Amino acid sequence: MKRILKKIFIKSIYYSGLPYLFREIVLRKKVIIIMLHNPGPDTGELLFKWLLKKYNIISLNQYIDYRNGKATLPAKPLIITMDDGHIGNYDLLPLIKSLQIPVTIFLCSGLINTRRHYWFKYYELLTDSDVLKMVPNNKRLEYLAKSGYYPEKEFPDPQALTKEQIMEMKEYVNFQSHTVSHPCLNRCTDAESWKEISDSKLQLETEYNLAINAIAYPNGDFTEREITYAKKAEYTCGLTVGYGYNGKNTSLYKLKRCSVNDNESVELLAIKATGIWSYLFLLFKKIPQLMFYNVTFSTRKLMRILILILPGMEDLVFS
Ligand SMILES: [Zn+2]
Repeated sequence: MKRILKKIFIKSIYYSGLPYLFREIVLRKKVIIIMLHNPGPDTGELLFKWLLKKYNIISLNQYIDYRNGKATLPAKPLIITMDDGHIGNYDLLPLIKSLQIPVTIFLCSGLINTRRHYWFKYYELLTDSDVLKMVPNNKRLEYLAKSGYYPEKEFPDPQALTKEQIMEMKEYVNFQSHTVSHPCLNRCTDAESWKEISDSKLQLETEYNLAINAIAYPNGDFTEREITYAKKAEYTCGLTVGYGYNGKNTSLYKLKRCSVNDNESVELLAIKATGIWSYLFLLFKKIPQLMFYNVTFSTRKLMRILILILPGMEDLVFS
């Protein structure tokens, strides 16, 4: 039922003409940045071709140059980014080549070219990965260890791009930094946060010969401290997650990105890319919440938070 309601909701907005009006009037001079993770080649083709028809795809560097007064922007500019450096991104290379579109992929320097796994994709987790994003970094690592995961653990199959793939792709793809191990930077100590931000840049530059000037904060989480560190490590910009668009005065270290699911329908992509989605959420906060969130999921999450914070409870769960 919820699914049908959601479909009707999306289709009615799509066919209302609102996305078109937003794109043509409000967004003509704004820069939209979309964030994907691991779309398959078929979805990639569908989404990229649709975006090419409706927007002018520009590179992240063109936008940075524009901000520094060294470049101009076309009307309706849009930047495509992908986070994490999933091994499946390699399958998009023929498409990226044939469409000749600029794409930026943010790599975790400690995961690429290894058989280490992304902690949030570790399915044996004894708790929701969302809960682990809310606890201090050492607690997160502690609970991961209890679930049998540790950052250096090697698995049979790689999850991240290999060095060979990166070398082949780098002529067509702009690779940038997504920290070393994808922690929640805002839950790290000063030393941990600095190491993740600075080491990642250094590793990507020295071991992969990449020109690193941008960092995407994992999960979009950052504080003023991360901005200070990003500047100190000589990044030119930082990308977060949040609906909206980027203009002339948006802080270069708080660039907004619109999160798009890897299997998104073109209709929802059309709505999200315009930024209308955020307005709808603000206007009808309650309605989308009721429609899109599963109440039992929230209850489960609450239970798990309680488990993490109540002394003694963890022993019951993890014994
Ligand atoms: Zn990520």
